[in-house]
Amino acid sequence: MELTINNVSKTYKKGGRKALDSFSLNLTPGVYGLLGPNGAGKSTLMNIITDNLKADGGSITLNGTDILTMGKNFRDILGYMPQQQGLYEDFTAKRFLWYFAALRGLPKERAKERIEYVLDLVNLKDDGNKKLGSFSGGMKQRILIAQALLNDPKVLILDEPTAGLDPKERVRIRNFISEISLDKVVILATHVVSDVEYIAKELIFIKEGRLLLQGTPAEVMEQYSDKVWQLHVKPESLSEIQQNYLVSNIVGEKSGEICVKVVSDICPAEFRGVSAPTTLEDIYLYLFHENKGE
Ligand code: ADP
Repeated sequence: MELTINNVSKTYKKGGRKALDSFSLNLTPGVYGLLGPNGAGKSTLMNIITDNLKADGGSITLNGTDILTMGKNFRDILGYMPQQQGLYEDFTAKRFLWYFAALRGLPKERAKERIEYVLDLVNLKDDGNKKLGSFSGGMKQRILIAQALLNDPKVLILDEPTAGLDPKERVRIRNFISEISLDKVVILATHVVSDVEYIAKELIFIKEGRLLLQGTPAEVMEQYSDKVWQLHVKPESLSEIQQNYLVSNIVGEKSGEICVKVVSDICPAEFRGVSAPTTLEDIYLYLFHENKGE
C-alpha cells in the first residue's frame, strides 16, 4: 500500500500566505511523525488528505488512484482522529461510537461487533456505559482513537493524539499506536518530539508549508550529530551565551557552575564548548528556531 502526496499546494483566501507549498511525500505502512510548529501546515495537510478541504493544486493517490476519484471507497478505509474539542459530554462511550458508526454507514451487525472490538482495543471495555463527561483526558483520547478505528482503516490520521495527557497516559497511547500501525499508514501530527521519537518509522519536518526534512529518527540524528555542544560556565556568562547561541538546556551543577547545552553550526570555542550527544528535541529547536537567519 502506498499513499502519495504529489505537489499539493493550498493558499487560504484569508491571509493569502501559502499554507502548503508544493508538498510531496510517499507513505507506506508504519507511523510517520509529522512535526512542525504551530502554523507550519500540518492541519491543512491532514484536512486535504481527509477531504475536508480542497487543495489548489496537486493530488493525493492511493496505490496510484486519486483519492478524490475513489470517493467513498477511500473514506471507507480512512480513520481520522481530530483534536479533542467539545466531546459530546452527555453521550456514553457506546452511544458516541454508535453515532460515528452510523455516520460512517457501517451496517448494524458490523457496527455492533466493531464497537465491542474497539472498546476492548483501547482498554475501555468496562467504561462503555459511562458518560464521556466523566472521562479523564486519557480516556477521552482513547475513545477518539477508538472512533477512528471503527472501520478498520488502512490510512489513519491522528492529530495531536497525546495532547493534554500525563506522562503515563502518553506512553500508553504511544505504545498502543505503535501496536496497531503494522498494516496501516499512520500519520501522527504533533509538536511534541517525544511522541514520535521511538515509534516513528520516519519523521517528517514541515515548515511554512514545505517539507523541510524527512528520514528515520536515526538518519535525522546522524545528519545533525555535529550541532550540539556542552559548556561549563560561571552563571554570569549565561546571558552572553543566550544572546549569541540557541540554548537547549541549562542545568545547575554542585560546583556552582552551570552546564549549558547549545545548538549551533560552529563550536562555541570561546566558552570551551565540547561536542555533546544530539537529541531530536535539539534538532527540532535547530530547525524551527525563529531567528536562525535563513
Ligand atoms: P498547523 O496545523 O501546523 O498549526 P495550519 O495548517 O493550521 O498549521 O496553518 C498553516 C497556515 O495556514 C498558517 O499560516 C495559518 O495561519 C493558515 N490558516 C490555517 N487555517 C486557515 C483558515 N481557515 N483561514 C486562513 N488561514 C488559515
